[in-house]
Amino acid sequence: MSLLEIITRIHKAEELASRPLGETQLIAVSKVQPNHRVLSVLEQGHRLFGENKVQEAQGKWPGFLEEYPDSKIHLIGPLQTNKVKAAVELFDAIHSVDRPKLARKLADQIQAQGKSPDLFVQINTGEEDQKAGVIPSGADEFIAECRTLDLPIVGLMVIPPADEEPSLHFALLRKIAERNGLTGLSMGMSSDFERAVALGATHIRVGSAIFGARAYS
Ligand SMILES: *Cc1c(COP(=O)(O)O)cnc(C)c1O
Repeated sequence: MSLLEIITRIHKAEELASRPLGETQLIAVSKVQPNHRVLSVLEQGHRLFGENKVQEAQGKWPGFLEEYPDSKIHLIGPLQTNKVKAAVELFDAIHSVDRPKLARKLADQIQAQGKSPDLFVQINTGEEDQKAGVIPSGADEFIAECRTLDLPIVGLMVIPPADEEPSLHFALLRKIAERNGLTGLSMGMSSDFERAVALGATHIRVGSAIFGARAYS
């Protein structure tokens, strides 16, 4: 599907939900995609991208940023504490804040570098063992802890269980955000972004629907 088609579908979903057109930020998830596909989307004027690995992003984004300096990149994958320095250097937002040790490291680096990336707390709404994120019952306490560290938390992020109706998880994420006074909602991917927009997503993370299937080697 083309970038334009995706944007049209987002606008339709916003209209159906009586939301202002263009309110939802589209993060084009460029992980694993060959450079020519990413360049094509940059050439079409899109400037907001998502990567799930620090190292991969470090390899390809400095070059793209030289050519398109107004590009923004968001880290949407898990972050190890030994990569926090590099992540704060490179990314404009981090969607995977999910544990106290990481929160403390982020606070240190944000202070040291004088940068202020938008941070999202990842919530494991499905309480899946293999998935990153804070479980819902621990969310309020963790968000409060982040606030005592003065972290710039702007919202919450979720990856719903693959085999469940995502809308239930989007609604739960929104509820947790509302009771914590957070407005950012990073939710919705290629297969469910319209449902996420309907439930108030502020950031959707769409990869394969824009770029085509990822060819892992
Ligand atoms: C890869 C990825 C996406 C995009 O997935 P698609 O199904 O290709 O849209 C979204 N969010 C996260 C966290 C991802 O890792």
